[in-house]
Amino acid sequence: MSRPLKWTSGRLAIVGAGLAGSLLAVLLARRGYHVDLFERYPDPRRNTIPAGRSINLALAERGRAALHHADLLERVERFALPMAGRMLHDEAGKTRLQRYGQRADEVIWSVHRGHLNQTLLDAAEAQGVVIHFDRRLSTADFDSRRLEFEDSEAGRHRHDFELVIGCDGAGSALRQAMQSETELGVREQALGHGYLELGIPADRDGNFRMDPEALHIWPRGGFMMIALPNPDASFTCTLFLENDGSPGFRQLQDPADMRAFLEREFPDALALMPDLDRELAEHPVGFLGTLYVDQWVLDDKAVLMGDAAHAIVPFHGQGMNAAFEDTVALDRLLAEHDDRALALQAFQAERKPNADAIAAMALDNYLEMRDRVRDPRFHLQKALEWELEKALPGRFIPRYAMVMFHPEIPYAEAHQRGEHQARLLEQLTANHESLETIDLEAASAKARDWLASA
Ligand SMILES: Cc1cc2nc3c(=O)[nH]c(=O)nc-3n(C[C@H](O)[C@H](O)[C@H](O)COP(=O)(O)OP(=O)(O)OC[C@H]3O[C@@H](n4cnc5c(N)ncnc54)[C@H](O)[C@@H]3O)c2cc1C
Repeated sequence: MSRPLKWTSGRLAIVGAGLAGSLLAVLLARRGYHVDLFERYPDPRRNTIPAGRSINLALAERGRAALHHADLLERVERFALPMAGRMLHDEAGKTRLQRYGQRADEVIWSVHRGHLNQTLLDAAEAQGVVIHFDRRLSTADFDSRRLEFEDSEAGRHRHDFELVIGCDGAGSALRQAMQSETELGVREQALGHGYLELGIPADRDGNFRMDPEALHIWPRGGFMMIALPNPDASFTCTLFLENDGSPGFRQLQDPADMRAFLEREFPDALALMPDLDRELAEHPVGFLGTLYVDQWVLDDKAVLMGDAAHAIVPFHGQGMNAAFEDTVALDRLLAEHDDRALALQAFQAERKPNADAIAAMALDNYLEMRDRVRDPRFHLQKALEWELEKALPGRFIPRYAMVMFHPEIPYAEAHQRGEHQARLLEQLTANHESLETIDLEAASAKARDWLASA
C-alpha cells in the first residue's frame, strides 16, 4: 500500500505551467507539498507567448470559484472585463443584445490568457513552487519514478517524483507515456472546423470600437465569428469555419480569397480591422476537437487533468473553467484520502462524468451560437425560460445559467436537467410565436409537475 503523500519526503511534479498546472501548483504548495512545476516554454513573464493561441478567454463562476478558493480572484478581477450578454450582429450590420441572465450579476468575464497565466505563476512562486521553464517532458519511467526533460538546446534533465500530474494540455506527453504502460482508452474526435484569430484595435483615442460589455457574435449558420474585449480597448475576434467545406479554410487559403469572404459575410467587423492583411498572412488556423480519455490515473503514480484528460471544443467557454474545477477537486481529495491511489481514483470518479457532460454541452453550444440564435423560436424559448425561472426559483434554471453561473450544480447534473427542461420548452412553445399567446400560469404549473417527475 502506498504511503500517504502528505507524509513522504517524496516530490510532487506537475508537467505543464499553463492554466491548470500553475493554479494546481498554488493549491498544493499551500497544503505544504514540495512542488516542482515544469514548462516546455521559457518564462512567459519575460517572453511573448506564441501567436494564434486563444488570446482571451471567458471566465465564468466555476473558474471564479476556484480562483476565490486560491485567494486569487481579486487579483484576476483587476484585469477581467464583464460581458453581460451576446451582441448578435446580423448580415445587415444590425445588432441585438441577448443578456446571459436576468440578474445583474449574471455576467461572464473576458480575461487575457497571458495576464492570467502570469498572475498564477507569480502566485505559485510566492508559495514556494520551484518552476522549471524550458523543460519539455520527453519520457517517463514509472517503475523508477523518473521523468526526463529536454531543453531548447537538446540538453537532458532528469527528475525523480513521488506523484506526477499531467497538466500539459491536449497533446499531453505524460498521457502518451502513461499510454505506453497501460491502455488509457484515448479517443480524439476532430470537429472538422478550425479557428482563426483576428484583431480589432482600439480607435485613435484609445477607445473601444464596439460595446465592450458584450461577447459579440456574427452567426451565419454553419460558421460564425465572435469577439471578446481586452483591457487595452481592443477586441480579439475568432472566426470558426469548416476546414474542408465550402466555404472552408482550405478553400480560402489564399489571403485574397479569405478577405473577399470576410468582406461579404462580416462587413461591419471588417471595417474595424486595419491589420487584417498582415494577420491573414501570419496567423495560423487552429485545430478543434474533443478528447475522451477513459483512464486518467496510473495507480498511485500519475494522474491527468485539464485538457490533458478532457480537451473540449470552446463553444461554451468552459475548458479552462473545467480545468480549474479539476484543480480544486484534486487538492481536496489528496487531503481527504491517506491512500494516494484511492484519492486519484476518487478524483477520476468525480470528474470524468462531469468532463463528458461539458464536452457534450460544448458541442451543442456551437449549433446554438452559429445557427439557433437566428431562429425566432429559440428566442421565444429563452424568454419563456426566464419566466419559468422567475416562477420557480431554484427549481427551473436555464441550462446556460446552470453551466455558467451555478458552480454548485455539477456539469453532469446541469446536462441532465437541461435535457429534461428542453423537452418541456419544446412542448410549451409548440404552435406559439410569442410569449403573449402562452398562458404563463398554466405553463408554470406544468413545469412544476414536469420537474418533479424528473
Ligand atoms: C480558441 C479557443 C478558445 C477558448 N476559449 C475558452 C474560454 O472562453 N473559456 C474557457 O474556459 N476555456 C476556453 N478555451 C479552452 C482553454 O484554453 C483550455 O481548456 C485551457 O487552456 C486548459 O488548460 P490546461 O492547463 O489544461 O492546458 P493548457 O492551457 O494548454 O496548458 C498546457 C501547458 O503545458 C505545456 N506543455 C505542453 N507539453 C509539454 C511538455 N511536453 N512538457 C512540458 N510542458 C508542456 C504547454 O506549453 C502549456 O503551458 C478555449 C480554447 C480555444 C482553443
